[in-house]
Amino acid sequence: MGASRMASRDELLAFLDEFLEAGRFRDYGPNGLQVEGRREVRKIVSGVTASLDFIEAAIASRADAVFVHHGLFWRGHDGRLVGWLKQRVQRLLGADLNLFAYHLPLDAHPTHGNNARFGARLGLAADARFGEQDLGFIGTTAAAWSLEGLQQRVVAALGRSPLVLAGDGRPLRRLAWCTGGAQGYFEAAIAAGVDAFLTGEASEPQAHLARETGVAFLACGHHATERFGAPAVAGHAAALLGIEHEFIDIDNPA
Ligand SMILES: [Zn+2]
Repeated sequence: MGASRMASRDELLAFLDEFLEAGRFRDYGPNGLQVEGRREVRKIVSGVTASLDFIEAAIASRADAVFVHHGLFWRGHDGRLVGWLKQRVQRLLGADLNLFAYHLPLDAHPTHGNNARFGARLGLAADARFGEQDLGFIGTTAAAWSLEGLQQRVVAALGRSPLVLAGDGRPLRRLAWCTGGAQGYFEAAIAAGVDAFLTGEASEPQAHLARETGVAFLACGHHATERFGAPAVAGHAAALLGIEHEFIDIDNPA
């Protein structure tokens, strides 16, 4: 460990594509190698988002590759490399740094993904899945939790207080969760019969749905809930390939 063995970029890409079953998902952007850098990788740095601050920190940390949940190219972009996007791409290319990005495959992975790792930190394991492409996780508590108890688990797991839209105060036995901006999954979670739903963000409609259905809704932070999958997967890949790994967290209150 920590020795300077090298892996090839292509070996790393093949491992990640297969481990995350990247070809199985319909996604909002390309999964896999988004920007090609040097051929040999001694160190991979993981993070949540390929922001300029993150790219600079990875370069300072002598990374050969970065692995993120939120890459650079999303559906809706018109493809022009100008402004902030030009800056990020220029830094990557200038440093010959590989950018690997996996979005939904990283949320969904059953043991190393964002949902699996966020659930584990709350003390939950999935026994069912729900929602589009089965991205949402559902688990059962051993003994019923109170809403206050669930809130305390979120604070302990993430170091921040969630926005809570209380339901009808029922004991919580069936819980659903999906990291990031999955507030739109709340209806599907309600339909699946759960007592509470946790995600990263909230929008206006969820407050009404929580009141009218009695199902509690907790918005725990988009970045905060998505910090666990990238280091789990990149760390696993690095350990298997004998290369170095470091997780760099760029704070984000949203
Ligand atoms: Zn996200």
